[in-house]
Amino acid sequence: MTDEEFRKPEGDDGAATRIARTDGLDLGALTEGRGTIDTRVVVRVLRAADVANMLPRGLQLAPQPLVGPDRHPVFVSFGHNRFSAWFGEMDYHELMIGIPWVEYEEERMAMRGPFIYMPRLYLDARVPQILGERIFGYEKLAGVFAQEDDTWRIHDADGDALVSGEFASDGDARPPEGWANFAWVRKLLEMPTISQSLRRFDRHARTLGDDRQRFVASNVRYLLSGMDWDGQPVAPTIEPLRATMTFGDGASLPPGLPADALVSGSLADGVLGAFRMRAQQVVSPPGPTADARYPPGGGRKLRVCVLGGGPAACAAAYYLARQRHEYGVSLYTMGWRLGGKCAAGRNPDAHDRIEEHGLHAFLGFYRNAIRTVAEVYGDAGRQVTAADGPIAGAFRSQADVGVLDRHAGRWSYFPTPLGTNDRVPGRIPPGGEEAPADMAVALHGLIRRIGFEIGSAADEDGDAQGPLSRVFELVSAPWRAAIAELDHWLDREGDIALERFVETPVAASRTKRWMISVLKQVRTGLDWYYEDRVETSRRAWFHWGGLDTLLTIAIGVLVESTLDFDDLDDRDMIAWLLEHGLSPEHADISTITQVYETLFAHAPDLPYRVADLACGVGLRWFLLVSFGYDGYPAYDFRWSCPETLMTPYYEALVAHGALIHFFHRTVGIEIEGEGDDRHLARVRMQIQASVAGTGPYVPFLPGVEAAGAPPVWPMVPNFDQLVEGEMLRARGVDLEDAYADWPGVGERVLQWGDDFDICIVGISLGALPPVIAPLVDPASPHFDARWRDLVDHTGLIQTASVQLWFDRGADTMFDDTPAAVEGTGRRGLLTGFVQPQASLGQLSALIDVERWPDPPPALVTYHTGSLLAGVKLPVPSAQTRDFPASERARWRELFAQWLRENHRGLFDAGPADFEALLAALRVPQGSAAAVGLERLWAQSFCVACQPSDLYVLSRPGETRHRMAPSGSGIRFMLLAGDWTKTDMNCGCVEAATQSGMLAARALSNEPRYVWRVGY
Ligand SMILES: Cc1cc2nc3c(=O)[nH]c(=O)nc-3n(C[C@H](O)[C@H](O)[C@H](O)COP(=O)(O)OP(=O)(O)OC[C@H]3O[C@@H](n4cnc5c(N)ncnc54)[C@H](O)[C@@H]3O)c2cc1C
Repeated sequence: MTDEEFRKPEGDDGAATRIARTDGLDLGALTEGRGTIDTRVVVRVLRAADVANMLPRGLQLAPQPLVGPDRHPVFVSFGHNRFSAWFGEMDYHELMIGIPWVEYEEERMAMRGPFIYMPRLYLDARVPQILGERIFGYEKLAGVFAQEDDTWRIHDADGDALVSGEFASDGDARPPEGWANFAWVRKLLEMPTISQSLRRFDRHARTLGDDRQRFVASNVRYLLSGMDWDGQPVAPTIEPLRATMTFGDGASLPPGLPADALVSGSLADGVLGAFRMRAQQVVSPPGPTADARYPPGGGRKLRVCVLGGGPAACAAAYYLARQRHEYGVSLYTMGWRLGGKCAAGRNPDAHDRIEEHGLHAFLGFYRNAIRTVAEVYGDAGRQVTAADGPIAGAFRSQADVGVLDRHAGRWSYFPTPLGTNDRVPGRIPPGGEEAPADMAVALHGLIRRIGFEIGSAADEDGDAQGPLSRVFELVSAPWRAAIAELDHWLDREGDIALERFVETPVAASRTKRWMISVLKQVRTGLDWYYEDRVETSRRAWFHWGGLDTLLTIAIGVLVESTLDFDDLDDRDMIAWLLEHGLSPEHADISTITQVYETLFAHAPDLPYRVADLACGVGLRWFLLVSFGYDGYPAYDFRWSCPETLMTPYYEALVAHGALIHFFHRTVGIEIEGEGDDRHLARVRMQIQASVAGTGPYVPFLPGVEAAGAPPVWPMVPNFDQLVEGEMLRARGVDLEDAYADWPGVGERVLQWGDDFDICIVGISLGALPPVIAPLVDPASPHFDARWRDLVDHTGLIQTASVQLWFDRGADTMFDDTPAAVEGTGRRGLLTGFVQPQASLGQLSALIDVERWPDPPPALVTYHTGSLLAGVKLPVPSAQTRDFPASERARWRELFAQWLRENHRGLFDAGPADFEALLAALRVPQGSAAAVGLERLWAQSFCVACQPSDLYVLSRPGETRHRMAPSGSGIRFMLLAGDWTKTDMNCGCVEAATQSGMLAARALSNEPRYVWRVGY
C-alpha cells in the first residue's frame, strides 16, 4: 500500500478527506473526542540510557519516583478504542509505546513537564492515523493487528513483526481503587502527553523559536473516577494480568527495546505489574502544554506522611493537604513547634520578647514563598488586603537595605541604589508564567543599570569637559548602539531574544564579540578614570567597585554563553569574577561579599573571611536580589518570622484536615527490596512526650498575641498538655536538643502500605545522616553512593546570632546624616560588617508585639553571622550533654569581645564608650539591677549547636550532589528541604518552599506552576 493509498478517504463520511485538509482548520471548532478504551498495559523498566535514546532532541528523562535513577519505566499498551468525535465515529486498535516522566531539557522552560512521550504509535485505521498526525502531530504508523482473545500479534505495514503479547487474567476486574497498586500506575497514566507537533497549532511557537522542532500536548484522559463527563456513573475496571511480551524486528521500532521475551508479573503482585483497563476516555484537541494538566481522578486517598516541620516540609504538606479528596496528610516533627531554622518562641521571663534562631527576612524575588504565603493566608482565613497584594498586613516592605564597607580604615553605610517597582510580590504577572527568561530579564536590568550608573557618575562629576567625558567620547557611541540594538530585539521578541543571544557561542556571533569588547573598553576606561579618585573619595571607590562588578558579570556571562548557571557551580564566584577581569582590589568589596554573607559562605579557618560560594548560585542570587524583585528589594515580618509564616501554615494545614503530630523524632528509616524494587518500608520514630486527654496538642501560647495577630509559639512546650509535662519541666529537658538525657516515652513505627503510601522526608540535612543510615553506611546492603556523596559533600555551617534591645532609639545609634551615609537612607537590613556578625536587622517594629512595661525599648537589633564552615558537631552521647550549654557560653564571650572591638563601626552615633553602650541595653525587669556585661548576658543569644540547626552551604562543586525532590532513588520516598536540587540550590526559605512544591507536584501534579522551574 502506498502512502497515497493509505491516506485515501475511508468513504464513511469523507472524514479523512476533511482531516487531511487541516491547513485552514479552525481549531476552535474542534471538540473533545469521547469513547471507550479496552487496553492491556505492560509496564517495563529499562536502562535509562536506552530510554533516553528514544527521545527526540529537546526532551530528557525527568526524575521519577518509581525506580532508581539508572532505570526508567516504559509502558506498552495494546488497546481497542472506540470514539465519537466531531468528524464521526472511529473503532480501531492501537499499539502505544509510552515513556512517562519526560521533560524539556531547558530548565527555564515554561510548561516543562513531566509528560508522557510516545516514540511510536501504531494503528489499524486510517482516520485516527491521519487525525493524530495532522491534528495532534503524532507520528502515527500503520499496523496490522491480529487479536484472538488474549493473544495479540502486531505487524507493521511491511509485514515485519512489531510486538506480540500473551495475557492471562490474574484477578478480578475491580474498580480502580480496588487494587492498591493501581494508585501508582494511575499517576503515570494521568500525565499529559506530548508529541512532535505541527507548529502552526502551537501558540507558543513564536517564543519557542523557529529553528527547533517543538512539542504540543494533548490530553488523553481516562475516566477512572467513577463519573463520566456528564456526571453519570461509569464502571471503569482494572484487572491484573500476567503477560508475556516479545518485541519483533520491525524496522520502525525504536532502538533499545529488549530482544528477549519479557515475562511480567501482574498488578496484583506489584506496582509495575501488567493489567487490563476498561474505561471511558476523552481526547481533547491539542493545546499548549499549559492547558494540558488535569487533576488526578477520584479513588482512595493516598496517605502521605511528611517528616519534619520546617518551611519545606510545610510547603509540601500544604500543597497536598489542600487536595484533600486525593491525599490524607500526616506531618510528624520533633519538638513542639513548626519552623525548623525559622522557629522562634516568646520568652515569658523577658516580657514575651521574641527569640529567634537569627535574623530572617524575605527578599523581593521570593515568588514561590510569597505566593505560597498568600495562599496559606487565604486558606487559614486570615485577611490579606487584596489591593496591596499578599504582603499587606503580614510583611513590612523594606526599602532601607544596604551594606557596610570599610575604606581607608573607616566604616561607611551605603544604601542600596535599588528603587521600588509596581510589580506585586508573589503575583506572577499575566503571561509571566510563560516567560522562561528570568535570568535574561535580570541581565537586561543589569546592562541598563550599567548605563544608568555611568550616567550618574558623569552627573556627579559635574565636569562636562573632564576625564569622564573623554571616556564617554571613547565608548559611549558603540555602547548606546549596543543598548539600542538590545532594546530593539527585546521589544520585538521579548527577553527570550536576549537569552538566545547570551547562549550563542562567542565564536558564532560577531555582535556578541563586539558587545563584549565594548563592555571591556568601558571597564578599562572607567578604571583609568577612577584610578586617582578612589584614594580620596569613598563614594568614588564604592561606585567604581560596584560598576566593575556589574560590568564583569555582564562580560563573564556573555563569554561563558550560558544562563543555566548550574553550569558554573564548580567554580567559586569571586574566583570566576577575577577570571573575567574584575580588579583584584574589588574582590572583597561588599557589593560582592554581601552575596557570600547572606548565604553564610565562609572559609573553614580563621581569620573570618568570605569564601567558597558556588558561582552559579551566587550569580543567580545577585541578579535576582538586584534586578529580579517585585515591589521592594526585601520584606521583613510584621510579627516575627515564625508568627507571620509558620502560624498560618499550621492553621491552613489543620483547616485542610492534615494531622500534625508534634513530639515525634524520626530515628531511622528502613529500606527493603533490591534494584528497582528498593523501597521505603518503615519509618521509626521516638515519641518524645504523650499528649494528655483526647484532643490534639495545641501548640500556641494563649493570650499573648496582639489583637488580630497570629497566635504565638512558646519557648518550651505547653507542659500542661503533656502527660510527662511536669517531669520535663522539672528536669529542664529541651525536646529539640539532640544531646538531652531523655529517652522519650515510646516508639512509633509507620509501615508502608498500612500507615502511609508515600513519605516526604523534610528533615534538615544536618540531622539526616543517622536517620538515613541504611543509605549512607557502607556496611549496609542498601548503601547508596549518591546519598553518601550528598551527605559528605554538602557543606554545613554553624550560625550564631544575638538580639539586643536598647533604650536609645535608632536615631541616636546610627548616624543617618548625609555626612555618614553614602547616599541617603536609614539602616533597616544591612550586611558586610565584621564577622562573625556581618548582618544586622533593625527590627524595632517587633517591639510593639512584645509585652514590655512602659516605656518599651526604643530599638531592637538582630545580629547574625556564621562561625566556622565545615563544622562537625560532636555526636550526641552521654559525654556531650553539656555541649549546647558550653557552646552558648563560648558564643557569649566571643560576641562580647566582638562588640567591644566593633561597636563604634556599627553603632556610629551610639555611645563611644563600651560601658555606656552596655548601660544603654534594656534588660528584663527581673535583671533590672544588672550592670556592665550582666546587661549583655540578659539579651538573647543563639548559636547553632544542634545538628538540625546547621545552615546548608552552597560550596563550589557541591550542586551536583544534590538530589531533586523526586530523585531519592527510593520508591515511596520524596524529599523536601533547602538541601535538595531546586532552581536556587541554597539555604533560604524560597529554596525550601520551592523544594516542598516540587515534592508535592511529583506526586500530584500540583502546584502546576513552580517559579523558574516552570510547568
Ligand atoms: C540564622 C539563620 C538566618 C537565616 N536567615 C534567612 C533569611 O533571612 N531568609 C531566608 O530566606 N532564609 C534564611 N535562613 C535559611 C532558612 O531558615 C532555611 O533555609 C529554611 O529554614 C530551611 O527550611 P527546611 O524546611 O529545608 O529546613 P529546616 O528549617 O531546618 O527544618 C527542618 C525540620 O526538620 C525537623 N527535624 C529535624 N530532625 C528531625 C527528626 N529527627 N525527626 C523529626 N523532625 C526533625 C526540624 O524540627 C524542622 O522542623 C536562615 C537560616 C539561619 C540558620
